[in-house]
Amino acid sequence: SNYSVAFIGLGNMGGPMAANLLKANAKVCVFDLVPQTVAELKTQGARAAASAEEAVKGADIVISMLPAGKHVQGLYLGDSERGTGGLIDVLEQNTLVIDSSTIDAATSILVGKTLAEKGIDFVDAPVSGGTAGAAAGTLTFIVGGDKSAYEKAHPVLSAMGKNIFHAGQNGAGQIAKICNNMLLSVLMVGTSEALQMAIDNGLDPKVMSDIMLQSSGRNWTLELYNPCPDVMPNVPSSNDYKGGFMVDLMRKDLGLALDTALKSHSSTPMGAMAQNLYNMHSMQGSGLRDFSSIFELFSAQHKK
Ligand code: NAD
Repeated sequence: SNYSVAFIGLGNMGGPMAANLLKANAKVCVFDLVPQTVAELKTQGARAAASAEEAVKGADIVISMLPAGKHVQGLYLGDSERGTGGLIDVLEQNTLVIDSSTIDAATSILVGKTLAEKGIDFVDAPVSGGTAGAAAGTLTFIVGGDKSAYEKAHPVLSAMGKNIFHAGQNGAGQIAKICNNMLLSVLMVGTSEALQMAIDNGLDPKVMSDIMLQSSGRNWTLELYNPCPDVMPNVPSSNDYKGGFMVDLMRKDLGLALDTALKSHSSTPMGAMAQNLYNMHSMQGSGLRDFSSIFELFSAQHKK
């Protein structure tokens, strides 16, 4: 490919995503507030920038992968409290901006609308698939924006992902993403309590997992992310819940989901329950561990 990309935010997800763009022969210029992450991508062939403004110079496409809405708004629109400007002041007309962070739809819509007034295309394109999907280039992208912007984004997203959906207008990608993650949190909690009850009654969690995988309780956590240690190799539960998707990022997503439910008058009792359990788990010191560690909320009482 001959397009040039500026990639901003090189954390657990952004780092491997930018690496896959390099493998697809895109010209990639990178920036992150953490210098080591920039240096790491440089060894893989990226151009290193000293600031976001420098990174976007001459870029056809800008991709951001940041923690939350305030970071995305600050990057593009600036921060009036801190008196800093945003990329909106330096981006050229017809640049395509792709934000793949999981953030609130309202911020995404605000950034998209403000950029559009300057002739800059914007899509929200949050991802599903985790750090393993980011590394393997098999992410699912859920895109919100104009059809033309979606089509423009498709080739570059294909270099980092396998399934690329057009969910609707700007913000729809974010809504779809948090609906999915709310369900994921419920499945993770439910799978954990079912497995622990089986263990409490003398069953082998591996056997129980095999049974549920061929029965009506089958779900993604059993297929790819079993929360019980040593049932599956190469998942966070078999590695002391290190790596993967942090409890506090799931809490962020559940906060976004329940804010959305409040605005749309939707009933989400299961999501509310999962949010409470994840809050409790985080308060007990597990905020930075993988979200499948919620299993320990159920298993810990039996270890004493
Ligand atoms: P992370 O904390 O590992 O990475 C975020 C990076 O952004 C950090 O390196 C940080 O230094 C950088 N950053 C923050 N503000 C910046 C700024 N103004 N300019 C430049 N760089 C800045 O987080 P992550 O796990 O990579 O997640 C990123 C987003 O993707 C989040 O919204 C998360 O919810 C979402 N997500 C994560 C996963 C996962 O499994 N980790 C899966 C799907 C979606």
